[in-house]
Amino acid sequence: MLRPFEIHEPGTVEEASVLLAQFGFDAAIYAGGTELLLIMKEGLAHFPHLVNIKTIPGLDEIALSTEGDELQIGPLATHWELERSPTVKKHAPLFAEVESQVANTRVRAMGTIGGNLCFAEPHSDPATLLLAWGATLELSSADAQRQLPAADFTLGMFETARQPDEILTRIRLPLLSENTAGAYRKFSTHERPMATVAALLEVKDGMIEHARLAVGSVGPVPIRASEAEGLLRGQGAEEAAFSTAGELAASASDPIDDLHGSAEYKRHLVRVLTTQALEQAAKRAVGAVNEG
Ligand SMILES: Cc1cc2nc3c(=O)[nH]c(=O)nc-3n(C[C@H](O)[C@H](O)[C@H](O)COP(=O)(O)OP(=O)(O)OC[C@H]3O[C@@H](n4cnc5c(N)ncnc54)[C@H](O)[C@@H]3O)c2cc1C
Repeated sequence: MLRPFEIHEPGTVEEASVLLAQFGFDAAIYAGGTELLLIMKEGLAHFPHLVNIKTIPGLDEIALSTEGDELQIGPLATHWELERSPTVKKHAPLFAEVESQVANTRVRAMGTIGGNLCFAEPHSDPATLLLAWGATLELSSADAQRQLPAADFTLGMFETARQPDEILTRIRLPLLSENTAGAYRKFSTHERPMATVAALLEVKDGMIEHARLAVGSVGPVPIRASEAEGLLRGQGAEEAAFSTAGELAASASDPIDDLHGSAEYKRHLVRVLTTQALEQAAKRAVGAVNEG
């Protein structure tokens, strides 16, 4: 049963931050509520003060930066909006593709990208993708603003680098170069994914110039598979050792036994999903170059 709480409706990020500082651990930011209200209903947490950030204008905006080099996503954009946004589809189609696979229709309609990242539930599709992508997160408080690489944001299970008075105000996604393509693979038996893999390959003259590979949902935080990335650099995109990269990513991942599956099974999934994601990313990158 939900215990009584007071809802605050700030009109600006500064007001929201002041409320968070004032109420400390008694307050929580309320966005879509799909995680927050669930844990409060189950009695796992109680916050006498909820700071509803949906009353702050502009936090749901999705736009290209004025320089045209990055996609700027407001934290209140829902999964549903991100999946359908013409701007996202045009400038970051892989992101729209991944968003369309998050949760079920009901959760996608209410749940926000900001809530997903800030809750830091380990089985997250966007957290894995944003790590591979090299996204930056903007955190704002009443008197300061800082930019944090996605890689430094998630610290552990349900734990982030966000300070109690900070609000995630923007997600910055650099646009991929013309000869970069990506692919995403996930496997689920429950509602949330058991293993997630994002791969981005930059291909020039048929050779892999850069590889970015992230593995998530198998352990507490998503990780970069750096050894696999290094192996692929300089290899021909059409005959690269993708299955060896899959092996390396599986060894680098730090899976845990849980209700979703055993660590060994998850390691096997990482091997398979990584190989598949890399093969598809290479096909897309070579296709893009040929079309271009
Ligand atoms: C049944 C179910 C299935 C799901 N399946 C998937 C899945 O397949 N893949 C996947 O990736 N996710 C999945 N999820 C997670 C889902 O994506 C999140 O529940 C949703 O995005 C959370 O957003 P929200 O706006 O509802 O967050 P809320 O519940 O409002 O907030 C969540 C947390 O984030 C904090 N917060 C919210 N916004 C901000 C902000 N801007 N700044 C700072 N802190 C903030 C809140 O204080 C709270 O602690 C699933 C969830 C459910 C319930």
